Amino acid sequence: MRGFFYISPSTKEKIDIIHPINSYRQKSIMYNHSEIESKWQRYWSEHDTFACTNPELENSHKPKFYALDMFPYPSGAGLHVGHPKGYTATDIIARYKHAKWFHVLHPMGWDAFGLPAENYAIKTGTHPAITTAANIDRFREQLKKFGFAFDWNREIDTTSPEYYKWSQWIFLKLFEAGLAYESDKPINFCPSCKTGLANEEVVDGKCERCGTPVEKKAIRQWILAITKYADRLLSDIDRLDWPEGIKEMQRNWIGKSEGCQFFFKGIDCPDVEVFTTRIDTVFSGAFVVIAPDHPRVQEYIHADHKKECDKYIKKTQEESDIERTKLDKQKTGVFTGSYVTNPFNGEKLPVWIGDFVLWSYGTGAVFGDAHDERDFVFAKKYGIPLKQSIAYEYNFDGVYTPKNGVETLKRKCVDVILENQNGEFFLIEEFNAENNSHARHFVGGGIEEGETEREAILKEIKEESWYVDVEVIAPVEMSYVYSKWYRHTKNKNQETLAQFWHVKLKSEERVSCEIDEWKHNGKWYSKDQVEELINWWNHKLMWQTFLRWPQYAMTDEGVLVNSWEFDGLTSAEARKVLTEKAEKEGFGKKVVNYKLRDWIFSRQRYWGEPIPLIHIEDEDKESLPTTKHDDCWIDGDMLKKWDKTLGKITRGISGWLLPDWDLPLKLPEVEKYEPSGDGESPLATIPSWVHVQLGKNLSGYRETNTMPQWAGSCWYYLRFMDPTNSEAIVDTAVVKYWGEVDSYIGGAEHAVLHLLYARFWHKFLFDIGVVPTDEPFFRLRNVGLILWPDGNKMSKSKGNVINPDDVISEYGSDTLRLYEMSMADFADVAPWNTKAIVGSYRLLDKIYRLFTTDSTTTEYQSWTAKEDLSAIKTMHKTIKKVGEDIENMKFNTAIAAINIMVNEGIPTDAEQAHEWKSVLARLLQPFAPHMAEECWSLLGNEESIYTTEWPEYIPAMTIDDEVQIAIQIGGKLRGTYPFMRGVTAEEVRMTVENKPEIAKWLEGVTVVKEVFIPNKILNIVVK
Ligand SMILES: [Zn+2]
Repeated sequence: MRGFFYISPSTKEKIDIIHPINSYRQKSIMYNHSEIESKWQRYWSEHDTFACTNPELENSHKPKFYALDMFPYPSGAGLHVGHPKGYTATDIIARYKHAKWFHVLHPMGWDAFGLPAENYAIKTGTHPAITTAANIDRFREQLKKFGFAFDWNREIDTTSPEYYKWSQWIFLKLFEAGLAYESDKPINFCPSCKTGLANEEVVDGKCERCGTPVEKKAIRQWILAITKYADRLLSDIDRLDWPEGIKEMQRNWIGKSEGCQFFFKGIDCPDVEVFTTRIDTVFSGAFVVIAPDHPRVQEYIHADHKKECDKYIKKTQEESDIERTKLDKQKTGVFTGSYVTNPFNGEKLPVWIGDFVLWSYGTGAVFGDAHDERDFVFAKKYGIPLKQSIAYEYNFDGVYTPKNGVETLKRKCVDVILENQNGEFFLIEEFNAENNSHARHFVGGGIEEGETEREAILKEIKEESWYVDVEVIAPVEMSYVYSKWYRHTKNKNQETLAQFWHVKLKSEERVSCEIDEWKHNGKWYSKDQVEELINWWNHKLMWQTFLRWPQYAMTDEGVLVNSWEFDGLTSAEARKVLTEKAEKEGFGKKVVNYKLRDWIFSRQRYWGEPIPLIHIEDEDKESLPTTKHDDCWIDGDMLKKWDKTLGKITRGISGWLLPDWDLPLKLPEVEKYEPSGDGESPLATIPSWVHVQLGKNLSGYRETNTMPQWAGSCWYYLRFMDPTNSEAIVDTAVVKYWGEVDSYIGGAEHAVLHLLYARFWHKFLFDIGVVPTDEPFFRLRNVGLILWPDGNKMSKSKGNVINPDDVISEYGSDTLRLYEMSMADFADVAPWNTKAIVGSYRLLDKIYRLFTTDSTTTEYQSWTAKEDLSAIKTMHKTIKKVGEDIENMKFNTAIAAINIMVNEGIPTDAEQAHEWKSVLARLLQPFAPHMAEECWSLLGNEESIYTTEWPEYIPAMTIDDEVQIAIQIGGKLRGTYPFMRGVTAEEVRMTVENKPEIAKWLEGVTVVKEVFIPNKILNIVVK
């Protein structure tokens, strides 16, 4: 697995960053970290200290704990300081749980298929297996220097045939279940890596691996039907203890949407089936667009539009889906000449072909209207008339909140944006509203019974402004506003549907008129002033709409207008009712759609797991052997395996597909590793491997695509449970015991790659009875990046990376572990800080001296506590705090607590001092295991500290006797005083009353009551 790991070249700057310890070193003699660390690493290796046997043996009575890191991709460059941060955290948890008497599984292995080794092979001719083995050796050697408590007996490597045999086995199970299928639809293709990519591997239109813009290419592919698991992958996210951000990224990637799928009736063409999440807007449907790659597209094209349409279709074929659906891209299209009927209102709609509609999403066809940005732009571009069917909804609050139990008046209104003759000024009315606020709004009012909109407009202008010579230009597009409020003057609720009109003054002619109920006061203002002065919400909104007109779609949810009997329904209500109508009348149904696409699983590259399938030609199917008595060249064992699956031979694109049960199907040697780029992998160049003789007159040819780099990491956590099992992927009893991963740590960049793919495979394995749980990783935590001291990301190309080897040789791995865990909160990014690493070293150095200095020396005595009881109490508090902090992954505060314990001092009493030291060594063990072992042995212990239990604390000793109680009088803090824990309110009051600085606040007031929060606050309420 890869992501945040880069490695360092040596730089002058780096030397400066690592070496400031010299100034400290010169002042004092320090512990020999390399001697101590190599001694204990040797000891652990010789004693196989971290070996973990499976539960059917002696430890099955213990509870289990599975601590796992995302296993690394062993790159040629080795580890950088970002790697061990996550591994150290897992090691701390694993060691702590082990000390808490859990049976702990804590393994490490290698995710080793992938492009770097293959690209290196292309360059140098070195077999990727050789490069990979060397890289693994280097990584292992580096990791061993950290003293991680890995059970190295469980090491796995995804490129070993013993491992990938089972990756292939899972693929065949998916194939048998119909979840792996062939397709020759165009897919994402990286021209640089010369391979197809999954959607998850395309980031902003570029190859996740190399950054090259991705192209669309039709090559035969193997695809896994992950979408069949979309619903479960989505709903089960809720019960995972994962960072909320990662869960949200998976939810969005899966992208569930509920909508209505229905038919527009073809008038002179086939019906068009569309999918929409906004059926509430269907009454404004203005056109239908089908995807250029819609398989029936030709049936919609009229003869006289054929030339233009074909040209358009050809052009779009050259674009990728990503290009076609880019937000900032010009939406283009072409009219087919066909029309369909809207089943909801019988309106006739033109059928277009448009590149922004994808055949791979929904039904490959949509209807367009005024309530979608993209549709709106498209309609404007091609002159398709639009109308509004969703009005803005505005419910007044405050004094205008609609009241229960009063009559509701319904009114249609017109509001007028009145422009003067030269178009520079607009008329605004001002008046004192019912709540005495100063209202400024446009002219407008209700449409009376029998009145047209135009008549109402002229009437309102005349009544409110006395102007009579005006020209009604047009309604403002998208200006319907639906509002509900309470009218104080009438004691009634009012529901108003208003539309805004653009009107122009033709002359200054005015005729006085005194009939309106308000004292209006109209004034002319410039555009800028209008923007500032208008203070009715809906008028302000419509003013902005007017300014942007006609380039503005109304995409909000609201209330239906122009929608026949459905007018007045809210968008949400309408979606339900209209979908029901479609279902009842048989022209549509409710449908759930996902953004998630099936997983493009094959790669046209060498260094991956071969896909174990054999193709045979159509006509050869009949000659397949069915029993071992047939005249065939297949050995009996293979035939037996085939017997189970011969009935499941699948019709592929070019023939029949036969699972090859002779696993592992090993990667053959090749002469050249270079991919051809035309959809064939380097494996295709080895005829002897490709050709399979299945019988005397029957041959087949192997699949030459390989699996993607994500295959091996989809299930590796299962193999760690039972790494050498040759009969099964994992033993049933063993996997039942270990269950889900209890603590999983890794980078956030795998959110919709590894973490999604692994959940999919795991659920499939659950369905076929291989695993007893349906989620692989119960608790996941992300590790925060370590940055270069200037706050930039470490990167190999910039040369600003720190090699842990350098830090270890300078300070030791215990210091590096301790430092990385104290940098910041574990999940936070933090810059490398040289001064702080010296601090971690000093703590270890001091602890070492505590254990090695004679207690009669003055130096030792300078480290003793003022009071033994206080030191012992601090010790118990530290045991409690460190345990709780490890459980909550607050490693930095746990280390701070150990520091406090050391600084408080060692008890003077010899026996207590011994206990104190024994506790300190055990608390230190998860963080700095080498030092902890050394201290433990200095105390006279012969067994490894790893086998020792976690210290227990006495609860009573963790409670402070003295508490600080705040005294509040009349809501103000007047002082804070120490009391014994458990003091009563009365005792507190009697004590403080006698203090002059408190007493003065109690003079001349009446105490109403006292509120006492034990051990914290006495609040005296006075008047
Ligand atoms: Zn690439």
